[in-house]
Amino acid sequence: MAKFHPSIDLLTEYAAGNLPLAQSACVAAHLNYCESCQRTAVQLQEAGSALFGALDPVPVGDSVLDSVLARLDEDAPLSYAQAPEADQTEVGRTPAILQRLMKGDFSELVWRKVTESLRISYLKTGDPGYEFALYHIKAGGKIPDHDHRGSEMTLVLQGGFSDANGSYHEGDFIYRAANDTHAPTALQSEDCICLAVLDAPLKFTNWKYRWMNPFLQLRAG
Ligand SMILES: [Zn+2]
Repeated sequence: MAKFHPSIDLLTEYAAGNLPLAQSACVAAHLNYCESCQRTAVQLQEAGSALFGALDPVPVGDSVLDSVLARLDEDAPLSYAQAPEADQTEVGRTPAILQRLMKGDFSELVWRKVTESLRISYLKTGDPGYEFALYHIKAGGKIPDHDHRGSEMTLVLQGGFSDANGSYHEGDFIYRAANDTHAPTALQSEDCICLAVLDAPLKFTNWKYRWMNPFLQLRAG
């Protein structure tokens, strides 16, 4: 059971459909692990639509109507599966929304080696403002101290990691604001795979790794 959850503010933005696509996909993936947040999101959606239904109708111009009708032909938006799969294979445990973006399992992804214990695989969500990537940290491995010019959402998919603020396991959701420095270390027992959604590239603060910063450009899209 997940111990760390999105804030109520984030869940409200999610339920209202206000989050950018990449962040919304990360919150949706957490809901796959967390019945409590899933229930809250449904309640917020119901409360939102009740409020919306109580509003007086506003006349809509032809151009708005045209753009709404045009969207009917678009692909369905990314969404989360209502219930986790019973199948406990690696792919079965992976949230449906990630399976769609990964088109395979973890071993079939293209992984870029960043340090001895860190590999990153970038996934495409179609959201140009956010990097959406999987981080693979070797058991006991450390991600060098880094901070962010923007926000960072993390969801633990496999194994776990710890930092100065706590220890995180499968399904845990962590949100960090800009300029929050931290140095996550994978748990000793197994390799850790996390989903990370960033709106600015991470920046290593330790002098040994600073030379890499120019290469860590945001790979959004
Ligand atoms: Zn939750």
